[in-house]
Amino acid sequence: MIKNFLQDAFHRPLRDLRISVIDRCNFRCTYCMPDKEDARHFSFLKPQEWLSFEEIIRLTKLFVAAGVTKIRLTGGEPLLRPNLVELVGKLRAIEGIRDLALTTNGSLLSRYAHDLKDAGLDRITVSLDTLDARFFHQMNGNKGDLKKVLEGIEICEGIGFETIKINVVLQRGVNDHSVMDLVWYFKGRKPVLRFIEYMDVGNCNHWDLRYVVPTRELVDLINEQLPLRPLAAKEFGEVAARYEFVDGSGEVGFISSVTQPFCGTCTRGRISAEGKMYTCLFAGDGVDLRAPLRQGADDAQLSALIQSVWQKRADRYSELRAQIRKHTPHTHKVEMFQIGG
Ligand code: SAM
Ligand code: SF4
Ligand code: SF4
Repeated sequence: MIKNFLQDAFHRPLRDLRISVIDRCNFRCTYCMPDKEDARHFSFLKPQEWLSFEEIIRLTKLFVAAGVTKIRLTGGEPLLRPNLVELVGKLRAIEGIRDLALTTNGSLLSRYAHDLKDAGLDRITVSLDTLDARFFHQMNGNKGDLKKVLEGIEICEGIGFETIKINVVLQRGVNDHSVMDLVWYFKGRKPVLRFIEYMDVGNCNHWDLRYVVPTRELVDLINEQLPLRPLAAKEFGEVAARYEFVDGSGEVGFISSVTQPFCGTCTRGRISAEGKMYTCLFAGDGVDLRAPLRQGADDAQLSALIQSVWQKRADRYSELRAQIRKHTPHTHKVEMFQIGG
């Protein structure tokens, strides 16, 4: 397949596509979808508003033709989307996708892990913020069962997923005491920890810089007990700064979008469950692809739309965070559960 060399306003190519398949979730993580805000802020999409699998496949093929090689399914909780395994199989069959991944809260993983693997999923990322059952409950709105999540991760380890990542969002004074527990628990095992700085995505989590635990502090903390050394990036646009344990027992990654923004190499486009294309996690709104799809646009018209959105892209929110928050503190941003991480 001949690829377009599509670039945005800052010469960043389009390489990754994150597809949100549902905006609903069975957790209510305080940093994403806090329960107390539920009634006021959240109105979930109706199933007929979701892109159908056929629509997702059609758009994905057009994104692949525009340069995308990596796909990540996300949500909301993607495993709540009925028949998700079928979608994974259909995506796997698209030529040109070299990496097919899924991000999940892990609650339903033990039920679906084998089928996802068989359908062709390459990689899985499980979100897990603490090993302390009490804090786990506090952080996800008293919804999940820690044991189930850990069981799901173990099943994934046993069935040969290429990569298993564990996303940990840290909040100072909430779960920062869990860092070393998580490090010791996963050290020497297949799952790789990725500590993510708490971000000001959306409007409902009442983010404050004081809750962010900077990567530098974390690296020092871990390094004191388990010496680390930095690893070179494997590819352009790699989000996590990776370190390996000097004793050879694996690696750990850090995503520092607050203290060390990486907008300069951001190659990620996103589609929400209702079919809007977003060019940044911190965007206010996206461009509707579903309407032209359902009104009979042909592939050339849809491709032209996708390309023009990407070519106009000038997002670099994380690099401008301080200024934006100072001058337009109440600006509307899409919620994380609407477009996925
Ligand atoms: N429900 C799935 C899950 O939790 O893995 C997939 C969707 S969730 C929105 C994707 C990722 O975003 C998760 O790893 C989650 O921890 C992360 N996330 C959500 N809100 C965040 C925030 N405010 N700052 C940093 N990461 C966040
Ligand atoms: Fe649900 Fe994931 Fe958001 Fe938590 S982070 S509320 S699991 S979508
Ligand atoms: Fe990409 Fe926007 Fe995040 Fe910058 S702030 S890295 S442009 S998603």
